[in-house]
Amino acid sequence: MRLSHTRKAFTISALLIMTGLLGQAAAAQTTSPRASGPSAAAPPAVEIPSAEPAEPATTTKPKPKPTSRRTERAIVNKRKKVRTGPAGSHLTTGTDGVALTFDDGPDPDYTPVLLRMLAKYQIKATFCVVGTQAKRHPELIRAIVKAGHTLCNHTWNHDLKLGKKPAAKIRADLERTNAAIRAAVPKAKIRYFRAPGGHFNRPVVATAKQMGMASIYWKVDPRDWEHPKGESPGDHRKKIVKIVQKHTRPGSIVLSHDYAQPDTIAAYRTLLPWLKKRFKLVALP
Ligand SMILES: [Zn+2]
Repeated sequence: MRLSHTRKAFTISALLIMTGLLGQAAAAQTTSPRASGPSAAAPPAVEIPSAEPAEPATTTKPKPKPTSRRTERAIVNKRKKVRTGPAGSHLTTGTDGVALTFDDGPDPDYTPVLLRMLAKYQIKATFCVVGTQAKRHPELIRAIVKAGHTLCNHTWNHDLKLGKKPAAKIRADLERTNAAIRAAVPKAKIRYFRAPGGHFNRPVVATAKQMGMASIYWKVDPRDWEHPKGESPGDHRKKIVKIVQKHTRPGSIVLSHDYAQPDTIAAYRTLLPWLKKRFKLVALP
């Protein structure tokens, strides 16, 4: 029995030589010839490759670093999204909130209608007012502020070329406009500026910033001011509704006009409830 057992052990160890594991098998056999030495020696042989998984384990450790870099990049991109309009002007609100902005007023015919509609749906908006209109209709500036909407400076007389003028003239224009607003509401907060036609350049954005106003561009423009030949008022309204519904996303700044644009006001009769169902509508803070 002993002999045959040793033979068995011998043949098995011979097999192990062939598989290149002789060293450990032989050691096991010399220390305990009775036992099924080779099988006892086998586990260490199997354990050798188990050293390999240790390498991936060390490579998984640096993983948190790329994740944090990715997070940083996401934050930077988020910031960029807010400031990708011309000359660093805001293109979006920077939050999920959608900001409706109404330009060129206040208009004695249409601003009050729009204010009633906004009140009906409990929506706050932002009004980019022109200085001359603010001077003519201080009661509308008061109504805008009283209702909790946000004010934005849109220059004294809608000067499309303001950015090309000397810095002193730019500043004088914006100050005159703010003075007209504050003649109506002395402590009015005017934290935003929009260049007429969206003609932002570095000088106007810098001047507005010095005066504590952020420059706002827009993300959605239904071109409600443009009336192509042959376009019926109904078609014009449909165009405004369609463009706003198609392009508005969380964070969008939407541009429209409450001055001399009756079809815009009509379009918002459809748009206000539609937008309210889908978005958080905010006045710019
Ligand atoms: Zn305008």
